[in-house]
Amino acid sequence: MVGSPSALNENVLVLNRLWQAVNICSARRALCLLYQGHAHAVLQANGSFQTFQFTDWRDFSRGADGRLRFIHGVNCRIAVPPIVLLVLYDKTPHKEVKLTRQNIYTRDKHTCQYCGKSVEKKDLNLDHVIPRHLGGKTTWENVVCSCRECNTRKANLTPKQAGLSLIRQPKKPVWRPYLDFNLERVPHDVWKHFIDLSYWNVQLGDEEEEEEGV
Ligand SMILES: [Zn+2]
Repeated sequence: MVGSPSALNENVLVLNRLWQAVNICSARRALCLLYQGHAHAVLQANGSFQTFQFTDWRDFSRGADGRLRFIHGVNCRIAVPPIVLLVLYDKTPHKEVKLTRQNIYTRDKHTCQYCGKSVEKKDLNLDHVIPRHLGGKTTWENVVCSCRECNTRKANLTPKQAGLSLIRQPKKPVWRPYLDFNLERVPHDVWKHFIDLSYWNVQLGDEEEEEEGV
């Protein structure tokens, strides 16, 4: 199947079996899930939601109007469903936040955790608070953002040895920043039925940080 790259990459909202929004994927991925029978397409019609298996969706696509984007094959075209419903997966959304460089930057708001300076991404480093050679682990509680100067000053020392102190105690965040998604740009109004604003917005467990408007 071919399609314009933009249609294949269009965002599709993924619901679990409990009709909870769990992810956003590309149209390419959504159509694979549909084709493999792992998901059904979801469409809102006359105030209710209809679900379609692959063959039904393909048949529906033939007569569908221009509100949907299409991917064209040799003898057919198939519409990009705005939403797919997973048939098997019924877990509630995964709330673990992966320990990644990007997520640490996000948690620390691109701010050096020693001097408090806001730093461009390219000039940020990750610092092990307790250095690795002293047994410091790569964990949310022991890795922070630091600017180059503080990083150089700290080197392989503990903060105390380097005469530095943390501006806040690092900890594991409770939000899920994997979805870097701006709700101003919801591509389909129908998504709003499934997106709980308070749930999708970034939430920190730390009240002090919430006040800073993260
Ligand atoms: Zn610094």
